[in-house]
Amino acid sequence: MNEVLRFAGVRKAFGSTEVLQAVSLSVKANERVALIGPSGSGKSTLLRMAAGLEFPDSGSVETLGTPVGEGRSVRDIRRNLLQVRAGLGVVFQSYNLFPHMTVLANLIEAPVHVQKVPREQAVERAHDLLERVGLSAKVDSRPAELSGGQQQRAALARALMTRPQLLLLDEVTSALDPQLVDGVLEVIVSIAEEENVAMLVVTHELGFARRIADTVHFLSEGNVVESGPPAQVIDAPLLQRTREFVGL
Ligand code: ADP
Ligand code: MG
Repeated sequence: MNEVLRFAGVRKAFGSTEVLQAVSLSVKANERVALIGPSGSGKSTLLRMAAGLEFPDSGSVETLGTPVGEGRSVRDIRRNLLQVRAGLGVVFQSYNLFPHMTVLANLIEAPVHVQKVPREQAVERAHDLLERVGLSAKVDSRPAELSGGQQQRAALARALMTRPQLLLLDEVTSALDPQLVDGVLEVIVSIAEEENVAMLVVTHELGFARRIADTVHFLSEGNVVESGPPAQVIDAPLLQRTREFVGL
């Protein structure tokens, strides 16, 4: 499968607010795509649609080859959603971890109880990932005992437990104290280098987008108005509104 995500002519309104007008974009296997744009431009809505947490008014969303929210029956639609979610890793801005569980229990929960991976195998993968995100010492801690940056690194490790083909990251550092941001971004960069995983990343950290993205899309007033490699969209945008957004 070459494309892991495809939005085609996606339109979405909330009440009388037209959030997305006709968005088409895709993410290829192993490709890293960054979505940038002003607050309220519909970035989170797009990510939520990719995960089947929201549905377009018109147009289509296909995640990992499965049409999201479509099917011949309710059962069909549900089965498609479960299939999509099984191949995805998702991390949002905050509140990602189950607060009453240890870090290890957070990581192995879905693999063991939903996907029926043998417990020892899941524990082994969890230890490996926690080491890579620098949290080996926190295996038995609860989320409240971790800093925000450590929580987000644990959430990233958890999202990778099932070896997803596509990782959706929505402003994963925007709730963090400034001194914790870089540690989390570094972990994402190293994951991008080590794992075969495509990423769709919403971020306002332009330096990070420049480092990680193969392709950047700038979203403005409901449309993708400029797309290309970071060297174009971030460093030498063609459109005036993109130039203003990136501060040129
Ligand atoms: P971004 O992530 O780019 O800041 P969002 O996708 O969160 O933008 O939101 C885009 C617009 O849609 C905003 O005006 C927001 O208030 C509105 N919106 C998002 N989700 C909902 C919802 N569930 N109900 C009503 N309005 C929503
Ligand atoms: Mg958002």
